[in-house]
Amino acid sequence: MSLAIPGAPCRPRAVTVLGATGSIGTSTLDVIARHPERYRVHALTAHRSREMLLAQCLAHRPAVAVLATEHDAAWLRARLDEAGLATEVRAGAEALIEVAEAGEVEVVMAAIVGAAGLLPTLAAVRAGKRVLLANKEALVMSGALFMDAVERHGATLLPIDSEHNAIYQCLPSEHRGGLARHGVTRLLLTASGGPFRGWTRERLAGVTPEQACAHPNWSMGRKISVDSATLMNKGLELVEACWLFDARPEQVQVVVHPQSVIHSMAAYSDGSVIAQLGNPDMRTPIAYGLAWPERIDAGVEALDLFQVARLDFEAPDETAFPCLRLAREAMAAGGTAPAVLNAANEVAVEAFLDGRLGFTGIGELVARTCEALSVEAAGDLETVLEADTRARRTARRALEGARGGTS
Ligand code: NAD
Ligand code: MG
Repeated sequence: MSLAIPGAPCRPRAVTVLGATGSIGTSTLDVIARHPERYRVHALTAHRSREMLLAQCLAHRPAVAVLATEHDAAWLRARLDEAGLATEVRAGAEALIEVAEAGEVEVVMAAIVGAAGLLPTLAAVRAGKRVLLANKEALVMSGALFMDAVERHGATLLPIDSEHNAIYQCLPSEHRGGLARHGVTRLLLTASGGPFRGWTRERLAGVTPEQACAHPNWSMGRKISVDSATLMNKGLELVEACWLFDARPEQVQVVVHPQSVIHSMAAYSDGSVIAQLGNPDMRTPIAYGLAWPERIDAGVEALDLFQVARLDFEAPDETAFPCLRLAREAMAAGGTAPAVLNAANEVAVEAFLDGRLGFTGIGELVARTCEALSVEAAGDLETVLEADTRARRTARRALEGARGGTS
């Protein structure tokens, strides 16, 4: 329930949720449903989860729904027709872009997983929307281009990744132009350490997809769950933090904090460290992004510090978890290197989830792919997309080669 706050919009803002059926998408719809006077759903999109998208359409009555294939779209159209809903059902990548840039839309939640989210997220940025960025891979791939587009088109970019949302809350409201200008010396990016914190490389070799997807503190989609287990998620987040906050890689320190209560911190030149705390529930950063600069109820339980009792911190183990180092190196190399890292990781994670690659093979495949490809200046989107394609091809070949060698 929300109270009538002075300054609250007098008509509900139209929201497009890209990746509505995922973990972030469903949490977004949960927050939106708590505030019908503030938000209405313009469009919902999903890849293949048509049953779930149907249920969401019935609950939120969007103007448009998007699925990947015409076959699934026809199925959804028929069900919505039977239910008497006027929702227009569309199919394909072009439709994702259209619902992201549609004139009536004010807010776009970018919650597609992976590189597939890049073009619709960029379309929302170029249309000057308020963009709630969960899809970190989009920013990792296209960093400079993405941030230039935010500036050039006057988009409002609000980070939803809990760590970056926390840092955003810990920084002065105007923080562009380099951290030093604002007296910030370091960003402290917290990491839960994932389900295998403290494990050796030998023990990690036998990890199964089920084990990797069982995160101790957060319930998330399968890809980001595996990324959290390898610490690639923290690596992608390091790159993300550099772009969002104009930081150099060495200004971002990763701090393993197993309780996931501090979501990240900013350290200042006078010795102050400002932290944002809360229960690990993505509805907090989502509500922050939706309502900013106001605050609204997110449905999240109040933090009980007596129950938390203690907060622990340790350094990450980059020998057992090399992905963090690989991401830092890619950011330092610049240009197309982060796009290559991201694409190789997507191929590796998919292969791991399909049982075609061992857990420690993920970091190995990413390292091999990054070594094999030269870094180019990422001056335009085409170059970034080509680097992504090349990296996927190289990683798949290496994967085939390795499998051929062992069979
Ligand atoms: P998820 O797998 O639960 O959901 C992904 C959504 O994207 C689904 O709606 C799916 O239908 C859609 N999708 C998948 N592939 C697609 C494609 N090729 N084209 C169009 N749509 C496609 O993922 P999630 O956990 O909700 O994560 C979404 C994004 O948010 C990721 O980039 C992730 O890194 C980021 N994120 C997630 C969390 C979390 O707690 N889950 C936290 C921080 C950041
Ligand atoms: Mg995160």
